[in-house]
Amino acid sequence: MERIIEVKNLCMSYERAEVLHDVSFNLSAGEWLSIVGENGSGKTTLLKGIAGLLPVKGGEINFSSGVSRKTIGYLPQQTAIQRDFPACVHEVVLSGCTGSNRILGLHSAGDKKRAHEAIHELGIEEIHHRPYCDLSGGQQQRVLLARAFCATQKLLLLDEPVTGLDPVVSAEMYESIKTLNEKHGVAVIMVSHDIAGAVKYSDKILHIGNGVEFFGTTADYKTSSLGRRFAGD
Ligand code: ADP
Repeated sequence: MERIIEVKNLCMSYERAEVLHDVSFNLSAGEWLSIVGENGSGKTTLLKGIAGLLPVKGGEINFSSGVSRKTIGYLPQQTAIQRDFPACVHEVVLSGCTGSNRILGLHSAGDKKRAHEAIHELGIEEIHHRPYCDLSGGQQQRVLLARAFCATQKLLLLDEPVTGLDPVVSAEMYESIKTLNEKHGVAVIMVSHDIAGAVKYSDKILHIGNGVEFFGTTADYKTSSLGRRFAGD
């Protein structure tokens, strides 16, 4: 499989405090990588570094096989402001189409088609005219996933996509991500607290704590001492 991202000896910090030190991993087309680790270990910082939203202090993040920062779909951690976003579902999804030419906020026919496909694929047709702020947490996450999918055919970055959702809604969200991953071949890098979900769905695991504690296949993670401690047998 073609390599799409290679991270080498990455270091990131806020002011003087180093958050990530010497982090290396890679991902190939169509793979699903989960980044797990304690609170404060730097998972969100790492995802923002990959998305180009935060500068890196050392090391490299190299994209290949047609992937670039312009063609990544990003689902950020939800904030209270986002939850109150004053727009309808269709507009929120369409706002993910950032790669094509837009003049004065007008979207091309191609963008509208892509948004329509994303709405269909995520099963949110019935709510596409509703105000985003009136939706449940699970529906909002599904809309944000459709928005991120609009932006990419290659790589989705998902920050805590199921946090705050009940088990049934979480499972539905995971299945939607799986559809985008398996049916559409979109690679996924997901930050999660939910190690059981990460182990169930991903191909690879990056466990960070004091540096990289594990990087490899999910099968190897499950039999590692770290995996046995966190994911159980
Ligand atoms: P995680 O996602 O693993 O919980 P984060 O990447 O959010 O970890 O945070 C890693 C560390 O960086 C934490 O110690 C956090 O307090 C610190 N941090 C996060 N954001 C900022 C910021 N904007 N300014 C300064 N420190 C930050």
